[in-house]
Amino acid sequence: MWLKCLGDLIFPRKCEVCGRLLPVDVEYLCDDCLEDMPLTYYWDWPENPAEKKLWVRTYLHRVIPLFFYTRESQYITLIHKIKYRGNIRLGHYMGSLLGEKIKRALPDVDYIVPVPLHPIRRWRRGYNQAEVIAKGVAEAMFGLSDASDRVLTDVLKRVRYTRTQTRRKMDDKWSNVANAFRLHTTKDLSGKHILIIDDVLTTGSTAEAAYSAITKVYNDCKISIATLGYVE
Ligand SMILES: [Zn+2]
Repeated sequence: MWLKCLGDLIFPRKCEVCGRLLPVDVEYLCDDCLEDMPLTYYWDWPENPAEKKLWVRTYLHRVIPLFFYTRESQYITLIHKIKYRGNIRLGHYMGSLLGEKIKRALPDVDYIVPVPLHPIRRWRRGYNQAEVIAKGVAEAMFGLSDASDRVLTDVLKRVRYTRTQTRRKMDDKWSNVANAFRLHTTKDLSGKHILIIDDVLTTGSTAEAAYSAITKVYNDCKISIATLGYVE
């Protein structure tokens, strides 16, 4: 504890949302920001709006984002730090928050599959943010010792290099991401409940592409998706 106090003196830790100094026993987010987070509570709401949005095109079992993601919200910074500024520990922490919320709603998940980046983008960024989040989710859902066996990072491959989604118009996104993934059958997923993890759910086109890559090979899979942010 005294080492941590000393560390805080030399490198003061700040809340990742509001920037206020954090007490010694608090990590990443201050109590106020943790309490005010615009949570969706969709884990307690089967047939929630995110699920209805995707039902038109998929048979996803559950769709559960953690918090609402709007341009005005200061919580948007969490996603930016995880995605573009290399804050891997924050990604892991936010993943564990998500895992804690969803574990009762999804008691029978067999494997967690993070949405992959194209190898070129992964190489440039040095990590895949969805994979970092997925590891946090798995630790919260299955415990530290089982987590690594449950996260499958080699079954989905991104086969097309797509331009960053945010720079494109909404109606453009569909053709951009369709057939973006291919399933590598390194593990028998037949009849399993697969939880896909991504950072943000917007149109759902990425979720749909991942869903169809898996169900093309295993049509008896139960598939859910969970993300940190949700754009309504
Ligand atoms: Zn704060």
